[in-house]
Amino acid sequence: MEDYRVKPHQKIDLAKDYDPNDYGEWKGKKAKGVARLTELRAELDALQQVLYAEHQHKALVLIQAMDTAGKDGTIRAVFDGVNPQGVHVASFKVPTQIEADHDFLWRVHAQVPAKGELVVFNRSQYEQVLVVRVHNLEPEKEWRKHYQQINDFEKLLTDTGTTILKFFLNIDLDEQKQRLIERIDTPEKQWKFSPGDLPERKLWWQYMEAYQEAISQTSTEYAPWHIVPANHNWYRNLVVAEVIVEALKKLDMHYPQAAEDLDQYKKDLNEEVIEKKGN
Ligand code: AMP
Ligand code: MG
Repeated sequence: MEDYRVKPHQKIDLAKDYDPNDYGEWKGKKAKGVARLTELRAELDALQQVLYAEHQHKALVLIQAMDTAGKDGTIRAVFDGVNPQGVHVASFKVPTQIEADHDFLWRVHAQVPAKGELVVFNRSQYEQVLVVRVHNLEPEKEWRKHYQQINDFEKLLTDTGTTILKFFLNIDLDEQKQRLIERIDTPEKQWKFSPGDLPERKLWWQYMEAYQEAISQTSTEYAPWHIVPANHNWYRNLVVAEVIVEALKKLDMHYPQAAEDLDQYKKDLNEEVIEKKGN
């Protein structure tokens, strides 16, 4: 799984070095992979509980991808089984007027995890160097500054106790076509299809260039990117879950110390007499 982690400022070539069909060591082991995901979900649930109880660390999982690559599906698959009170998902859409009137990190900073929290970003600050770049929503000299601004922002977050894990779900053009056709063919999925998806698809290679540069410029020691093979949903889910569980385990979290004299409290409980009112 370490292979998918991008080294700090590593130059990457998405088309050459990252196969969206890759299975790593799990080729032909789908049943085992699915079973492993079930275990990882249980581990994640346990880790989230101690994260909350300890109230020290903050966890931020950030997901970016092209349409149909499975941002929603990954979040559902990986966090299914985690206490719903323990996870918050923040989705970033086209900025509202008030958001657009502020700097681009304003709405993002408002959603970052506090102590004990686990937050998932469905899209993120990175839209400002992806869709904004591809559609010329800002001049190049403006969006180019955002790499450093994002690195500084993420440094602030990690310096103040946040573990940041960034994932790019990597599908290819052909897989996207199949998935768009499937959406059109499946009544329960038709709502997800938007006619605007087709002109976006035509910009595929501009997006790949934008992703490549963004990932390379902003993969740091403290906030690494992971390029996840995502043509096969089960493997995509497995990689994301494995990376998150590994990182949270490394935090070596502990439940807070129990109150003193627990034995005495237990004795009191066993011996207690609570009289009924009004006797
Ligand atoms: P979806 O996630 O499919 O609901 O779509 C959300 C849309 O909002 C996508 O087309 C994003 O590219 C767009 N979006 C998110 N952030 C920004 C941003 N900062 N500027 C422009 N568009 C954005
Ligand atoms: Mg969409």
